Amino acid sequence: MNWLERFLLPPHCQLCGATADQDELCAGCVADVHVIDTACPLCALPNDDHSVCAQCTKQPPHWQTAQSCFVYDGTVTQLMRRWKYGKQGSAERLLCEAFYDWIEATEFTTEATAIIAVPMHPHKLRKRGFNTAYQLARTASRVLKLPLLEHALKRDHLTDSQAGLDKAARQQNLLGAFSVNEQALKGHQQALLIDDVYTTGATAQSCTQLLIRAGVTRLHLLTLARALPPKD
Ligand SMILES: [Zn+2]
Ligand SMILES: [Zn+2]
Repeated sequence: MNWLERFLLPPHCQLCGATADQDELCAGCVADVHVIDTACPLCALPNDDHSVCAQCTKQPPHWQTAQSCFVYDGTVTQLMRRWKYGKQGSAERLLCEAFYDWIEATEFTTEATAIIAVPMHPHKLRKRGFNTAYQLARTASRVLKLPLLEHALKRDHLTDSQAGLDKAARQQNLLGAFSVNEQALKGHQQALLIDDVYTTGATAQSCTQLLIRAGVTRLHLLTLARALPPKD
């Protein structure tokens, strides 16, 4: 939008069309963004006291810590869908800016010396044209001034047929989906793994296991959004 259009057309919220002040989201849609304040330190599941949740107590993940900026619901889900499937540049910009601001505002620090993004299969990447995890990792790399190891992890197999497999078989299936380039990892024993949405954690867990086998000693997971488990 140029200055003339901005002058003639009052800004509208890109999600619901309501009048918005300047930031392209109206007050209502901004209020529907839920920042995670306190959470389980191992899976980023929101709670009131930073305690380790029952699931992580029973089966701790292989990474050292997991953090997530927002709950995957409301406005964040809508923006993520628009970015991922609708290829909307404005949604991408808002989410990457939110990620950037969150890292800055929380004074996020990490012992990691490098950043790695959860990769997409090349076929899917060609079809979509971009990897949301990679774009977020680039954002994190800019704020934290850490190198992004673009070729450290590769996705070799498509894992669309997870249906009908039990949890252990899924994990095994996923583990075979990635490969590590040890040369690209050289000199980095602590890394920050970035993904867009933490759902079950299974994908990040497989990446972590492979990175550990390849010599990474401590891994931290950072995701833009954390999906809440279905309520029963
Ligand atoms: Zn709105
Ligand atoms: Zn947990």
